[in-house]
Amino acid sequence: MERLIITGGAGFIGCNFVRHVLAAKDWQVLVFDRLTYAGSRENLRDVESDPRFSFALGDIADRDQVRRLLADFEPTRVVNLAAETHVDRSIDGPAEFIRTNVLGTFELLEACRGYLPSRGEAGRAAFRFLQVSTDEVYGTLGDEGLFHETTPYAPTSPYSASKASADHLVHAYFHTYGLPALITNCSNNYGPYQYPEKLIPLMIANAVEGKPLPIYGQGVNVRDWLHVEDHCSGILLALEKGRPGEKYNLGGGNERKNIEVVDRLCEILEDELPPAENPALAARGAAHYADLKTFVTDRPGHDLRYAIDAGRAKSELGWRPRFDFESGLRQTVRWYLDHQDWQEAITRGRYERQRLGTAVKV
Ligand code: NAD
Repeated sequence: MERLIITGGAGFIGCNFVRHVLAAKDWQVLVFDRLTYAGSRENLRDVESDPRFSFALGDIADRDQVRRLLADFEPTRVVNLAAETHVDRSIDGPAEFIRTNVLGTFELLEACRGYLPSRGEAGRAAFRFLQVSTDEVYGTLGDEGLFHETTPYAPTSPYSASKASADHLVHAYFHTYGLPALITNCSNNYGPYQYPEKLIPLMIANAVEGKPLPIYGQGVNVRDWLHVEDHCSGILLALEKGRPGEKYNLGGGNERKNIEVVDRLCEILEDELPPAENPALAARGAAHYADLKTFVTDRPGHDLRYAIDAGRAKSELGWRPRFDFESGLRQTVRWYLDHQDWQEAITRGRYERQRLGTAVKV
């Protein structure tokens, strides 16, 4: 039986990926997670009783813990989703991003390098280390063009620079040591269980409470949105069919300006939680959710546009996103409206939806 370690499995994509794997495969799955502000056992509640699932609290940057983890669990595959992930937080405090994203990935790679010789020829050949990365490593696009796997890395934020550094290490471990490692670079995800610091869940949470909907700058920055379940299916396909040493771009082909996303969320909320049934809105003197839109100072160094060419993942892996943005966004709004207790549980005492990422230029 396959034995899969998912680092960061208590976070947004991680917990969705755990569910995806357990539904699709008869594999043993171990989540290794430090449970930072962004990770929670709440996110895994419905899988905790599955006998194929186990959880270990730990830090990918802790050399001894990571080595023991591999020796004890004897994985056949490792997917690294553990990371600090919020660009705004990386602007306020980059150190944790370097520690987890760069040093943590390095410790995982080193531990795999030490572990693989004990696996025998067949075990080594079948082993995979999959690094889950982002399209932000490519930097920013102008009005035209797409990111391809061959696009040179040009990260601009501390977050994207830390992810790019980690990707370079993964690539180096393939070339230097023959570690069977590969990378997926994905565009912006949305869907259930995303921490409410990110655009879509933040807007829904604030709208429900009649609070301002903060839009950075003029809201013209473009992101290519992909439903988290489609990201998960891409990761699993890459894990099974991807070629070691390769990169696979994953993206939904759903380019939207931030302001368009917020406008659409407001329209969906008008249907799903009509203003007349939401006293918080009236208490703020607003008749419609769109009245809450507020333009705020832009993020320093805000990349203008990201857009993905996912052709290689489609042709080589047979990957196809299932969700169209319209129905995916509506399902997402519905999920957050139905899971307000979850949001309360994962943010209590940790995060009050304050503005982040305001560090000034030197
Ligand atoms: P998240 O912030 O929701 O979750 C991160 C998880 O990692 C949390 O459970 C946290 O506790 C854990 N973690 C953090 N530091 C750790 C450490 N030192 N050791 C062990 N666990 C640690 O992030 P997410 O949105 O689920 O992103 C997961 C991965 O996917 C990241 O590598 C991110 O760069 C990448 N990614 C995210 C997106 C997106 O839109 N969310 C898009 C492309 C790629």
